[in-house]
Amino acid sequence: MTDQAAGTEASLYLHIPFCSSRCGYCAFFSADDAADALDSYLNRMTAELHSLEFFPETIYIGGGDPGMLSPKQLNRLMEALSPLAGRCRELTMESNPEGVSREQLDVFASHGGSRISIGIQSFSPEARRVLGRRGSIEAAESALRLLDSYPGLRISADLITAVPGTHPGDTCRDIDRLLDLSGCGHISLYELDIEEQTALARSFTVPDEQDHLTPAWKHLDAKGFRQYELSNFCREGKQGLHNSRYWELKDCIGLGCSAVSSVMQADQLFRRTGPLNIALYCREGTEAGAYETVSLQEVLKELIMVSLRTETGIPVDRISRGWGGETAGIIEQGIRRWSDRGYMESGRMKRPGLLIMNTIILDFFDLVDSLGDLRIFQPLDTVF
Ligand code: SF4
Repeated sequence: MTDQAAGTEASLYLHIPFCSSRCGYCAFFSADDAADALDSYLNRMTAELHSLEFFPETIYIGGGDPGMLSPKQLNRLMEALSPLAGRCRELTMESNPEGVSREQLDVFASHGGSRISIGIQSFSPEARRVLGRRGSIEAAESALRLLDSYPGLRISADLITAVPGTHPGDTCRDIDRLLDLSGCGHISLYELDIEEQTALARSFTVPDEQDHLTPAWKHLDAKGFRQYELSNFCREGKQGLHNSRYWELKDCIGLGCSAVSSVMQADQLFRRTGPLNIALYCREGTEAGAYETVSLQEVLKELIMVSLRTETGIPVDRISRGWGGETAGIIEQGIRRWSDRGYMESGRMKRPGLLIMNTIILDFFDLVDSLGDLRIFQPLDTVF
């Protein structure tokens, strides 16, 4: 797979795997002791950007913590992105509150940056202590106020709920605080996922997710946010385009450590994961990563899994075009079964279904497995 193989409307993801410290719950690829390598990393990344020949529809700079980039380093990165960004409809950068400064936002906004995704997680001292979040609540508050003074930048904030030791109403208070401080129009609300091998997994039992999620979802409804994906809520016109494209399995080119590229071609999905080693990336680039070809079964499972999370639900018509009417019919049987039980409606998950998402996904996976070897009826790159 080459980066030029991506469709003309592909998205671009850049991974900046540097953090100033390690959060207890984190399973992302990032390093908290490698900031010295940032310039070398940017050398490689800007060289890779110069070699790209497509014009991404969305661009996302994620991490790690891109807030670790100094204004000068961010300027280098944004200048390398500029020639590619002519057709870009959304250019997002993640940042932790401590990385948000007027100098950095000036650089970002002046190069066409349109959206900041800020990792607040919680305003509760207890939750922040359990999560191992460095940085003060005051820093989070002043970062939000500063972001609010840039009318051209849309704000998305990450919050975490169901943190051990917190109460169901705490997330509602976090939402209120967030909206008091800024005109934030997009909230990503994640339940704490205690991944194996993190410090948290060894220390705590997780509270019941449902007790925390249900009141938080209702509170977001009352504040005028629409749940357009299991963990993502937006006000009118503030939906995140980059992630929405990901949930539709649109092509994406990822550059940097652990960055995933996904390109659909005729009857296969090609995937590349950037190297999990900063020194190796600096020497050899994203191409030194791991490659796989995803089978037709697995592509169908992925499509079902991501679409069940969204408000649009399972795209039966696309499944019918790509995998044929018989396959689509079997998937419709699953939709009917879960609709009869009150968990789905018109191919979409209802809220009770969202709370038992994993059970429902596994049931659909069994249906896909029952189909045996699949073939395609229309090239997949024309279906997606
Ligand atoms: S800032 Fe984000 S990427 Fe870095 S350690 Fe914390 S959760 Fe992980």
